[in-house]
Amino acid sequence: MSSTLNLALLKKILTQPTAPFREMHVIKTLTQEFKNFNIPYFQDPVGNIVVGVSSQKEYVKLVQTKSQEPLRIFIAHMDHPGFHGVKWKNQNTLEIKWHGGSPTKHLKNAKVWLANSQKYLGEGLLTKAHLEATKVNISKSIKTGEVKMPVQNIFTKDIFAKSIFAKNIFGGLAFRAPVWTRAKLLYTKGADDLVGSFAITHLALKYLSKKKSMKTPPRFLGFLTRAEEVGFIGAIGHFELGWLKNTKREILCISLETSRALPGAAIGKGPVVRLGDRYTVFNPNYLRVLLDLAKISLGTNFQKKVMDGGTCEGTIATAYGFPTIGISVPLGNYHNQSFEGGIDSRGSCGPAPEFIHLTDVNGLITLCEDLLKPKIFSKNPWTMSIAKFRRNFKKYTPLLKSAFFS
Ligand SMILES: [Zn+2]
Repeated sequence: MSSTLNLALLKKILTQPTAPFREMHVIKTLTQEFKNFNIPYFQDPVGNIVVGVSSQKEYVKLVQTKSQEPLRIFIAHMDHPGFHGVKWKNQNTLEIKWHGGSPTKHLKNAKVWLANSQKYLGEGLLTKAHLEATKVNISKSIKTGEVKMPVQNIFTKDIFAKSIFAKNIFGGLAFRAPVWTRAKLLYTKGADDLVGSFAITHLALKYLSKKKSMKTPPRFLGFLTRAEEVGFIGAIGHFELGWLKNTKREILCISLETSRALPGAAIGKGPVVRLGDRYTVFNPNYLRVLLDLAKISLGTNFQKKVMDGGTCEGTIATAYGFPTIGISVPLGNYHNQSFEGGIDSRGSCGPAPEFIHLTDVNGLITLCEDLLKPKIFSKNPWTMSIAKFRRNFKKYTPLLKSAFFS
């Protein structure tokens, strides 16, 4: 199965301002798409978006419906590392608190964007940044800092004119544009994990729209979470609701992520079947099926790896007892830290736009669609492997018999 990528929609999602706990613009954009196409969705008590059912009642009914088909739950997060305003130090200096990973060098006067719940507000400069090790990530990241707005900036006047409170402002690192492409590479202020959110939206538009008369695949849910970057807060909150306890069918969680490019998980070489993350490995049986599907659909244009450059919501799903697999798009300049360098990089480990390869996003979508084929999980995924093992055993049986040491 091959798919066409809706680049306009991807760019629209990537343009939205987002930060941990400040996902409202992404939520608005995605739910508007769902509304336009009559796709059922609802917001759980934690503020995550569940797409595929329109209420808690329908959700519980679905997971309690007996079926041979595991219920696929695709998971992606809508936030990206960024900061919240704390208070105005003076007329044009905002004290900030950072949430999530960040670059660690060349931070002085790095450009940042600012927004509030209503709109994008403008740009400022990061004039101070204090680094600390976070609990989630062993490496250091910005903890607090200051953002300065040019005095003559209309934006500053606007703030006071409309009494925008410091605490309502949030932001992140800014570059020449929120998103742009150069050949097959897509650069952005934050691909992690708006690309995963895009993939779920793509599936919803393709299979859940009531306006389309497409053969419906086995049921699935999209789970778009909040505040992953500070420790999977949205996902934990959802699993803690207990809606997935004692289900009458198997639940299969599929983490969709953009993950730090690593040796063996290179940008442009295809999506990565994520065997695990820094925390844990994932389910071998379901991974076997995904690997077989990837081979059929993508040939050699996919990769497989334990993506241990970071953790993902697959860890949370695993910890809460659900079989889990993952698919990653290899990510350049993870968390806006210049590991790979390139356009707009401020130097090694300094601020830089994240970038991905569009072929990898296409591959991600193809694999997501593959996972919605019926009956793919009904057979023993190891049958072919065992046949191969047996052939090998048979081939060497004469040698086994040629000498016994007993
Ligand atoms: Zn992520």
